[in-house]
Amino acid sequence: MESVDGFGPEKIIQLYDPLTGMQGVVVIDNTALGPGKGGIRMTSTVGINEVKRLARAMTWKTSLHGLPFGGAKSGIVANPKAMSQKKKAQIVKSFAKAISTISPSEYVAAPDISMAEEEMRIIAGVNGKKSVTGKPSDMGGIPHELGSTGWGVFHSARVAARRIGLSLKGATVAIEGFGNVGLFAAKFLCEAGAKLVAASDSHGMIYSPKGLDYEKLAETKRKERTVTRYKPGRIMPSDAMPGLDVDIIVPAAVPDFITVRDLKHIKAKLIVEGSNIPMTAAMERLLWKKGITVVPDFVANGGGVISSYVEYTGGTPKQMFKIVREKESKNTLKVLKSAEKENITPREAAMDMAKARILRASRTSY
Ligand code: GLU
Repeated sequence: MESVDGFGPEKIIQLYDPLTGMQGVVVIDNTALGPGKGGIRMTSTVGINEVKRLARAMTWKTSLHGLPFGGAKSGIVANPKAMSQKKKAQIVKSFAKAISTISPSEYVAAPDISMAEEEMRIIAGVNGKKSVTGKPSDMGGIPHELGSTGWGVFHSARVAARRIGLSLKGATVAIEGFGNVGLFAAKFLCEAGAKLVAASDSHGMIYSPKGLDYEKLAETKRKERTVTRYKPGRIMPSDAMPGLDVDIIVPAAVPDFITVRDLKHIKAKLIVEGSNIPMTAAMERLLWKKGITVVPDFVANGGGVISSYVEYTGGTPKQMFKIVREKESKNTLKVLKSAEKENITPREAAMDMAKARILRASRTSY
């Protein structure tokens, strides 16, 4: 049996459709606050363990940000870059059919890695509009491609930087991953006067201490499919990013990007986790002992699921941007203040808050 603790997971469902080859997993971690909420990621390496960890991150995330959802997540094992759009659509449809008995009652899906509004349209077509968020606007949705997560990461970074006495103007920034989260985090940080010096994607990292022009970099990524084609700059392996001489690092792609091997090389003063589980809680604690502030994933990257909540309750994109800004600013500050007061890591402080709300709800439901 898979391991459980006082919170979950409540359900782990392995999915396979021999007709399409779709193989996946859904983890409903905890539903004390509402139906399990979480995105679907499609990668060739995703498995039960990763999805369990991600579903737990969602349990804390929805609770901390005061949303009426529990935590869940799902994964589809496939390499989206190695398949046609038609095949991808077929697999997504097959996945939607496989979860139709639990969605939307126990699981409300959303985009995550390699999933976007068009895939959400397919899921809504199978399980109904209430079964999924991040849908296209013509379906009454608020696509995550509007940049909600990056917008939230930016506000979290802004508040955290101020808290540690770091001015965003001129602060040097490195961003791991230039997808939907990294791209928008970079945009908003640059607009606030920060200096982007490094960015990476699955092809490697581009680094220039003189600064990368955000517009040009986004254009390079769009046209050439990789940030490493940007000129001028030095192409380096992505795993060199944690050791760069920068003020702020924003991990915004893969799990376990920063490991204990990076500990003695990290020079950044602030790490804002745009991606989910970019390092372990133990690693965050080691960084905290060194005086490095880490804003944990479920605090910093709530923008996506907050946007999902606004969509779920019939709100507009304008309201979404306002609510993401308010919640991310307020909750980041609350977490950092509490961590300072209790002399614990920001993750420990945030978990105390998230757990308290879930336990209150669990007690009253029995
Ligand atoms: N994929 C996003 C996240 O990990 C959004 C999830 C959602 O809206 O359910 O937070």
